[in-house]
Amino acid sequence: MVLERYHQINNGEKTAKFQIAKRIEVEYHDNDLDELLRIHNDIKDEFKEVLESDTITPSDLEQKKKIKVSFLDLKIDILQKMLKNCVFCERRCEVDRYSERGFCKCGVESYYSSDFLHMGEEGELIPSHTIFFNRCTFRCVFCQNFDIVYDDDYIANEFELAKRVDLRFRQGSRNVNFVGGNPDQHAHTILRILRNVESNIPVVWNSNMYHSQELANIIEDVVDVWLGDFKYGSDDCALKYSKAKNYWEVVTRNFRRAEKNGELLIRHLVMPEHINCCTEKIIQWCSEELNNPRFNLMFQYYPTFKAYDYPEISRRLTRDEISRSLSLARRAGLDLV
Ligand code: SF4
Repeated sequence: MVLERYHQINNGEKTAKFQIAKRIEVEYHDNDLDELLRIHNDIKDEFKEVLESDTITPSDLEQKKKIKVSFLDLKIDILQKMLKNCVFCERRCEVDRYSERGFCKCGVESYYSSDFLHMGEEGELIPSHTIFFNRCTFRCVFCQNFDIVYDDDYIANEFELAKRVDLRFRQGSRNVNFVGGNPDQHAHTILRILRNVESNIPVVWNSNMYHSQELANIIEDVVDVWLGDFKYGSDDCALKYSKAKNYWEVVTRNFRRAEKNGELLIRHLVMPEHINCCTEKIIQWCSEELNNPRFNLMFQYYPTFKAYDYPEISRRLTRDEISRSLSLARRAGLDLV
């Protein structure tokens, strides 16, 4: 069954990963980053065992077991230390975010633009409690969220947002969906929010999949569903439209890793004049290299922001481009949303 574990969490049969991470006790002192990572990587095996054997059930969450320091706390401490030399994403700026800004322009505080029950996501996700963080690790010239990517709106208070996640859960949300912009650069804040969430709710990481392996190592134990954009089939296109280097290698690596550590829902926004270089290549790779992921082939591209500076993408898709993309995906046997 597609997104099986996700549905089981929704049905109260399984426990969201972050709730498991909160209930695994660890012991450490104020160690340096390397030492914390060593402890973290040792505990990862224990976490996997607990996850796979369902030792922590949803009903266990009602018992308020006292945990002094949890696996999730350890992850947060690691991320807070990683901010001093930030490689959260493959920009690898190596800036100290306590005093400087890298490409994404984020410091230590995170800001968000809105949160609401989103009814426009994929059917299996709605209603989705979507939290739109400011800022991004990409610079897409056709960005449809450019109004939230270049500003800081509201400070993301971990306690207030956690309460909101619980409230939205009571209102019927099926997941908490961290997006933006992009969530990666706010991973430390997001994990702090999750530390304060009480609900057994699946975590959706709605991302450009340009995160580093270092970040994946930490966040993959709290992400239930990777809702990943697969934008480009060519490094030239990624560089031209999103200022992202080495795109194909990074993103395919991350999709492979995400599949091993969670469930996948891939989005591909078809762009005008990019069927051969991007859509076709992505469809082929996903059908050959991944284990039949859920795949959303999206046709809602419209030129906005700086897209008019690029004549080839300054229009909507033609009918021919849509039908060609669809038949490529069907022929490849993708599980289309
Ligand atoms: S999150 Fe990425 S873009 Fe932002 S400072 Fe870190 S490495 Fe740079």
